[in-house]
Amino acid sequence: MALAVYNTLTHEKEPFTTIEPGKVRMYVCGPTVYDEAHVGHAMSAIVFDFVRRYLEYKGYQVRHVMNFTDVDDKIIARAAQIGEDPAEIAHRYAGQYKDQLARLNVLQPTVFPRVSQTIPEIVRMVAGLVESDHAYITASGDVYFRVRTDPDYGKLSRRKLEEAVTGTRVASREEKLEEGDFALWKAAKPGEPSWDSPWGNGRPGWHIECSAMSWHYLGEQIDIHGGGNDLVFPHHENEIAQTECFTGKPFARYWMHNGMLQLKGEKMSKSLGNLVTIDEFLAAHDADVFRLIVAGSQYRKPLAFNEDVVVNGERALERLRTALRPPTGPVTTGPAVEALAEQVRQSHVAFEAAMDDDFNTAGALAALFDLVRAINTARDAGVGDPPFAAAQASFRSLIDVLGLRLVVPQAAGQSIAPFVELLLTVRLELRKAKQWALADKIRDELKALGVIVEDTPQGSSWRMAGLS
Ligand SMILES: [Zn+2]
Repeated sequence: MALAVYNTLTHEKEPFTTIEPGKVRMYVCGPTVYDEAHVGHAMSAIVFDFVRRYLEYKGYQVRHVMNFTDVDDKIIARAAQIGEDPAEIAHRYAGQYKDQLARLNVLQPTVFPRVSQTIPEIVRMVAGLVESDHAYITASGDVYFRVRTDPDYGKLSRRKLEEAVTGTRVASREEKLEEGDFALWKAAKPGEPSWDSPWGNGRPGWHIECSAMSWHYLGEQIDIHGGGNDLVFPHHENEIAQTECFTGKPFARYWMHNGMLQLKGEKMSKSLGNLVTIDEFLAAHDADVFRLIVAGSQYRKPLAFNEDVVVNGERALERLRTALRPPTGPVTTGPAVEALAEQVRQSHVAFEAAMDDDFNTAGALAALFDLVRAINTARDAGVGDPPFAAAQASFRSLIDVLGLRLVVPQAAGQSIAPFVELLLTVRLELRKAKQWALADKIRDELKALGVIVEDTPQGSSWRMAGLS
């Protein structure tokens, strides 16, 4: 079975072939580091982690570059707001994000470049675009890319040049020639970070960094360029324009975009104030739960994030863990052993078929659950090692493609469910005995620990706080 990948550029699933056999050059747009990262960032990172892990499972060597935007208007604005140095803010949040990705078991990118460390390459690219008349310098020392010089402009987002030109509004103070032209270099303003350039002191515009980093770390042409679908226009459209006008060659073979994570039907964003940070999520849940939530949804579609999907993620994790319980019987031959081996084969085929179909992780999960069922059935039938251990090893090789660790919580971090249930049973007895004050005390103390108890005519139920 061959891997097929949906390409935003062609709107089609295409057979996956690489520029260099056996090697994948992949660039994924990373975050602007000026505040706490939220689960929307984690979703994008995990989608491309699934992609990378599956490519590696298929034997590809993946060179994966993800940038940190550490020079940007938002960082400068935040720095002014809290009276801190912009570079320090960016450094702190970049470090935090790297830790969070490690906790989410996201494989570390091969290179993590930052704008502040890529200035020479950015300047070289901007200079090249100026030389070839794709860019112009204004009286105040800004440099703009002139979209009219690129006949292909708009091919990714499928906008006609006229739409693109009028589709973006700009402040009239700027001296650019046409609406759609975008900044490659911004002349320095007092108090802002700046670097020397042939056009005077200044700093890069946003889009140029990804073109320059991709060029510098991966070469003129790459296999996969990824990011959230909110980046298709203008960011990725502008990246293509800059890179292709600079190199004269097609840039990325496959443009992959993940859908947005949505909370109550809205995109999660700082401006809407509807954020769940990665730290908040991981304080209450295992990282596997989040990976299962992302895997359960088609990566190009919006991911509805709510209490139900979190509960489902917790349940799915519990179910997967059951496959790792040890065997109890001595059986090593016979129909139960054969049935288990057959299901292992079938699950592998189904798992790969799903992943080959544009990284259909939900289909891959379904294959894993079939394998869990077969392993548990075999255990019940008394199947022991070595065939049982072989099936478990096979299961582990597949969960690893989805980056699942299935760590059974130890002592302190053990599942709180049995203890909460025990307290609720005691509370029920207290209520029957009309000891209301004590019963309420249990409810209130649980709430202080983040466990919300709800009383209904059918009895009491509980859930973890943190999601509303
Ligand atoms: Zn980018």
